[in-house]
Amino acid sequence: MRWETVVGLEVHVQLATRTKMFCGCPATYGEAPNTVVCPVCLGLTGALPVLNAEAIRLGTVGALALGCTVHPVSVFARKNYFYPDLPKGYQISQFDKPLATGGAFEVVSPERGPITVSITRLHLEEDAGKSLHDRIPGHTAVDLNRAGTPLAEIVSGPDLRSPAEARAYLVTLRQLLVYAGVSECSMEKGSLRVDANLSVRRPGEPLGVKTEVKNMNSFANVERALEAERARQIGLLESGERVTQVTLTFNAATGEVKPLRSKEDAHDYRYFPDPDLPPLVLESAWITSTRAALPELPAARRNRYATAMGLPDYDVGVLTAEPAVAAYFEATVAAGVEPKTAANWVMGEVLSGWNDTGVFAVSPERLAQVVAMVESGTVSLQAAKRIYGELVTADADPAALATRLGLVQVRDEDALAGWVDEVVSAHPDEVARFRAGEAKLIGFFVGQVMKRSGGKADPKAIQPILKERLAP
Ligand code: ZN
Ligand code: MN
Repeated sequence: MRWETVVGLEVHVQLATRTKMFCGCPATYGEAPNTVVCPVCLGLTGALPVLNAEAIRLGTVGALALGCTVHPVSVFARKNYFYPDLPKGYQISQFDKPLATGGAFEVVSPERGPITVSITRLHLEEDAGKSLHDRIPGHTAVDLNRAGTPLAEIVSGPDLRSPAEARAYLVTLRQLLVYAGVSECSMEKGSLRVDANLSVRRPGEPLGVKTEVKNMNSFANVERALEAERARQIGLLESGERVTQVTLTFNAATGEVKPLRSKEDAHDYRYFPDPDLPPLVLESAWITSTRAALPELPAARRNRYATAMGLPDYDVGVLTAEPAVAAYFEATVAAGVEPKTAANWVMGEVLSGWNDTGVFAVSPERLAQVVAMVESGTVSLQAAKRIYGELVTADADPAALATRLGLVQVRDEDALAGWVDEVVSAHPDEVARFRAGEAKLIGFFVGQVMKRSGGKADPKAIQPILKERLAP
């Protein structure tokens, strides 16, 4: 009898604010240890937190983008635990009155197709510092630069049924949050972290005992870690043992999960409302206007590209995967390029450069000029790609570049006729076959003329001359 896997994910994303959650320290990345700190985020006695309004706005935008209900009143609570990287001895979080609850969005499962994944809650909290175990041999160092960084914790319902589905959920969630401008969502920089809960059961039975896997540094490793944990749990159950509620850590090098500690229950944290922070009260008019100001989200954009622009599904998926790419594509269309032509260029030359460097070396307006030269027959598509390659290195006027590189298509009748005559006399066999009715050989002759012209002949202008010379 088979097992059913049940996965729920807790995702922490860093809100893209300039400063920390409760103090004015910059929320930067990669500074020297303990240099972006102040009495508030160091947890010094008597220092009081002041809420960052932008963190509230971004948390609200994120909640609305995920289809959650944003509550007019939410409460910051102290989550008490003792760890060297938590200077106050508690984390300011939200507990029984979170900012938002009850969202859902569609994820395309690799196994089940489109599914709806529920969002149990989105709450706001501050990050802790970082314990560094590899800086000083035999000791643990503490860096508090991250302490107080604003986070949204997003908890999904137990709606995912496989490790691959969990990964698809993460890709979709990340895309939504990046589109909404809520977070950079970079796992390398720690601005997106995943804790995964997994249990197995026989289909139709109540939920089994779940465990939590931490320490995964990529979506691919989330999938690997969950596969390992699923196998571990099934192994236990099939040998008559029980699964116990533990927190595990994933070792990417070995692909194994190892128990870290027994998992805490909520009551272990002794939550209580933070007396230093009043309840967060949001006016309903503000929530409404924040919702109205939401940018176009991925699903709406995909729909627009498919229907209004008539692009095929594959193109739509590639163009909308990253908002920056979608914006470049739209700017190219706005500069006058027909959507399918723009899509081909963006998915080809433009994306291969962007994937390597993360920058768009050629502006959409320049690209549009290059495309226009192809449309007008001034240069061939092949020549246009070469011009584009030159523009990546240094910006220039595409028309001047085409002249300088000798790429302007020759449409001069005499020059074309010269090449055609050379080709016709060089290939008597093919000429005979063409005259005998093998019409598809026209492509061969066009290719030969292009070759002879060094790619400069205008293929459209060659055809009538060829047909005239080849006529029986
Ligand atoms: Zn600070
Ligand atoms: Mn949390």
